Amino acid sequence: MFKKILLATHNLNKVTELKAMLSPYNIEVLSAADLDLPDVEETGTTFAENASLKAEILSKITSLPCLADDSGLCVDALNGRPGVYSARYAPNRNFDIAMENLLKEISDSGSSNRKAHFSCVLAFKVPQQSVRIFEGRVNGKISFEKKGTSGFGFDPIFIPEGYNQTFAEMSAEQKASLSHRGLALQKFISEVFKTV
Ligand code: IMP
Repeated sequence: MFKKILLATHNLNKVTELKAMLSPYNIEVLSAADLDLPDVEETGTTFAENASLKAEILSKITSLPCLADDSGLCVDALNGRPGVYSARYAPNRNFDIAMENLLKEISDSGSSNRKAHFSCVLAFKVPQQSVRIFEGRVNGKISFEKKGTSGFGFDPIFIPEGYNQTFAEMSAEQKASLSHRGLALQKFISEVFKTV
């Protein structure tokens, strides 16, 4: 079992979610901000490429086992956008504007298809080992207006399949049990913690 893991991200919302999900396990969880590490530029074109890049670079710098998350919202009516470019869709990280723009783009598309999904790829890199990939996906739809104040990013406009509340109207525990990140992390926990 690992004693320490570095979360290879500066996104505090992801850090909060991942730390909470890892809290039942006896492991010290550090973030890139805790160690004052640089931001890794996301030059890949897929979630897996970007997650691997972040995990490999920060593991090389720190010699620690690193877990990186690359994730995003893929909207059917927009041919999968913003997808891997979800973070950049928000001007100055303003997600109120990003959500308004996204709702307008869907309505301008003329499509009545509100289907969307969140994807998350977790890349785990242990020094001297090859990177391991864990994927999670949650299907759902885009609401017509923002609802709820929990969570982050696009949570106020995403309603997971089988529910009628947005992620932002759910508790952190409920979101974690359904979310792309929660599902990917469950795979990570069962595969990595079991085999180490
Ligand atoms: P990146 O993985 O750092 O490139 O950024 C992921 C972006 O996807 C975030 O900035 C959000 O816009 C979006 N995103 C990823 N996961 C979630 C989530 O759980 N809720 C809401 N938005 C998310």
